[in-house]
Amino acid sequence: MIVQPSDIEKTTAWKNVVLPPITDLHKIDIYRANGGYEGLKKALAMKPEEVIDEVKKSGLRGRGGACFPTGLKWSFMPRTSSKPKYLCVNGDESEPGTFKDRQIFEYNPHLLIEGTLIACYAMGMTAAYIYIRGEYNKWIRILQQALDDAYAAGYAGANIAGSGFSANIYIHRGAGAYICGEESALMNSIEGQRGYPRIKPPFPAQAGLWGCPTTINNVETIANVSVIIKNGSKWYSEIGTSKHPGPMLVGVSGNVNNPGVFEMPTGEPLLDIIYKWAGGIPGNKAVKAVIPGGSSTMILRGERLEGVRMDADSLKAAGSSVGTAGMIVMDEDADLIRVLTRIAKFYYHESCGQCTPCREGTVWMFKIMKRFEQNLAVAEDVDLLMDIAGNIEGNTICALGDAAAWPVQSMIRLFRDEFEKRTRKVTASAIPLV
Ligand code: SF4
Repeated sequence: MIVQPSDIEKTTAWKNVVLPPITDLHKIDIYRANGGYEGLKKALAMKPEEVIDEVKKSGLRGRGGACFPTGLKWSFMPRTSSKPKYLCVNGDESEPGTFKDRQIFEYNPHLLIEGTLIACYAMGMTAAYIYIRGEYNKWIRILQQALDDAYAAGYAGANIAGSGFSANIYIHRGAGAYICGEESALMNSIEGQRGYPRIKPPFPAQAGLWGCPTTINNVETIANVSVIIKNGSKWYSEIGTSKHPGPMLVGVSGNVNNPGVFEMPTGEPLLDIIYKWAGGIPGNKAVKAVIPGGSSTMILRGERLEGVRMDADSLKAAGSSVGTAGMIVMDEDADLIRVLTRIAKFYYHESCGQCTPCREGTVWMFKIMKRFEQNLAVAEDVDLLMDIAGNIEGNTICALGDAAAWPVQSMIRLFRDEFEKRTRKVTASAIPLV
């Protein structure tokens, strides 16, 4: 649908059928020639509640990290409201290891626009905001051109395709803060306020953008909607695993021969993703560890990947989560201390500073990780790190706190020896914080 693997022979995915990519699919004529906007026309001939029901039956789950059922989320929106209702499409991806939404912006922007319009129709909205990462200059331009073309063709704006339904889409450019990918911070950012996450409740469906009912969906989630409506929920639900169906964009980075973003059905074995889709490990080295879904998901040991699949249930059973399906692969020579120091620096830098455990804890974890990196840590620092992470987890306004704590906790639980190897045999009081 969006991106195809480069090596047909190496893949077992999607019933062994790999289609060639469609050239210039970002152009509206090519998109329409390949069935584009048929899903929108079909949706506009249905009742809005029928569209929501179809999305519910498809089993689509959010692709932004939480895996929440999309149709259920849509059904939380009040059917009638004295206030306007809004859709926010979250394209603020910037977590280390995650780079999938940009593929949709670049190669299939009309799929996103079409899905956005269907979602607006289903939930009774007349305005949607696509919030896009500020650094994505190239992709902002491509998306804006596609949106202009959709307006010119009558698929967006007033009286869409002669149906009487009207909806406008606005592209809102972020200013470079990772925290604005958190849904309530995203809404504050659109409102022109500082990107601080809000305390919940109230939840966005009750009081979101400008205090009005709002739904926030990830870009990839919305990009699935038009194919569900066009081909039917049954067709969609038979792709991938039954409890977490559909195609999924999996980004693979780190120590692999063929890094990139691959579209595959959910449930693909992690080992197949590494060795068949991403071409294996340079030098045929062993896999030491994998972070399966972006830097906030728990790390897995390489020798325990057998049988683990890229779907919510399988990764939960393995002790991690799908997240954004941004896999970071580390080979036997990877320096996990360096990896974790970089991750800790990211969360320290991106903490909005609103709540104490996250503001203070993330900088402490980064400083202690720098001690490990420089071989200045002492034995007590391992438990100190765990203590700090435990005091952040579950004690913050938004999920960034957990996202910062989990990599630290999981890496110490699974690779404690890597930390102990980097300690010195002196007491903690003898070593200054760096
Ligand atoms: Fe801000 Fe961190 Fe608190 Fe989230 S957890 S509100 S990022 S300080």
